Amino acid sequence: MASESATVISNTGNLMKYMNLDQRGRIQAEYVWIDANGGTRSKTKTLFKPVTSVDELPEWNFDGSSTSQAPGDNSDVYLRPVAYYPDPFRQGDNILVLCETWDADGSPNKYNYRHEANRLMETNAHEGFWFGLEQEYTLLGTDGWPYGWPRGGFPGAQGPYYCGVGTGKVYCRDIVEAHYRACLYAGINISGINAEVMPSQWEYQVGPCPGIDMGDHLWMSRFLLHRVAEEFGVRISFEPKPIKGEWNGAGLHSNVSTNATRAEGGMKAIEAAMKKFEARHVEHIAVYGEGNEERLTGRHETGNIDKFSYGVADRGGSIRIPRQVAKDNKGYFEDRRPASNADPYQITGIIVETMCGGL
Ligand code: ADP
Ligand code: MN
Ligand code: MN
Ligand code: MN
Ligand code: MN
Repeated sequence: MASESATVISNTGNLMKYMNLDQRGRIQAEYVWIDANGGTRSKTKTLFKPVTSVDELPEWNFDGSSTSQAPGDNSDVYLRPVAYYPDPFRQGDNILVLCETWDADGSPNKYNYRHEANRLMETNAHEGFWFGLEQEYTLLGTDGWPYGWPRGGFPGAQGPYYCGVGTGKVYCRDIVEAHYRACLYAGINISGINAEVMPSQWEYQVGPCPGIDMGDHLWMSRFLLHRVAEEFGVRISFEPKPIKGEWNGAGLHSNVSTNATRAEGGMKAIEAAMKKFEARHVEHIAVYGEGNEERLTGRHETGNIDKFSYGVADRGGSIRIPRQVAKDNKGYFEDRRPASNADPYQITGIIVETMCGGL
């Protein structure tokens, strides 16, 4: 845990003077990858001209023994660029580069869940999968306790905080606004934000995104959140149940539709999908996040982890069919089981597999 006596000496005003210096035509490319603990890591490479296609981005590597992604005696892990976005921090022609991780023997790294998901998305491209993820998270102070909560104590009971407005009801709106704008600048398909039920907990939505874009955009949005919060000296937690007891957990509700569910009479396709989901509840839970059993208790707007259920407008089930979808007889459904720390590639991958079959 970070020492509380550490003095922060960063000076944004001073920094701006240097950020405005001419780059002399060189580009800074921030290579971002997913580590062994559900976090993101990044390092920077100078390029010699602006990038117009992902194929122009060179492969790179990092020391996997320093991130628990490779053994010390065979430590090189390769970074393969798969997407790039305008960099909201350095701006100009500078970019953020999302990478897949590959081992020296030519196989995907153990923590590269994108490779398999992408194969599933490509095989089933004709199904027209769209996803929309609701990312919940908690803001923590450097002491690890929710930001703005009394030290070692608790705020008043839940009620005033969800979509709250006003002092004592919401915390760190500055970080939330900064992150929202950074996502928009980067071209992340962020579709909204709201303050959550537990104070210092927030949500943002990304989507609808087709196929593999969902995981790509969500991972880049997570990187941006950690990176923005770093400038404010606040920690981001994706723990599914950061505070035990009568405090809501944090999820990653996953909304799903296909050509068939969006077509006239698409409720039939949704009902058919529910049968398939029911048969694979255990397999889904296995990839829906670490520590999710603390969250999926059947209380606090969750379903029970041991039992699959679904229903129209039911926020206590595994899957909810929105009221409007039932009314329109077509649309999408919401898988409410994934925890806030789940990997979006694993979530969207298993959903495609369950609805369409494996590779
Ligand atoms: P909730 O009422 O569950 O809090 P939100 O408004 O937070 O709902 O999130 C709804 C999500 O559903 C958004 O991420 C949005 O992108 C997604 N969504 C909307 N329509 C579709 C669709 N047709 N297919 C997939 N996702 C969708
Ligand atoms: Mn070195
Ligand atoms: Mn929501
Ligand atoms: Mn929510
Ligand atoms: Mn939801």
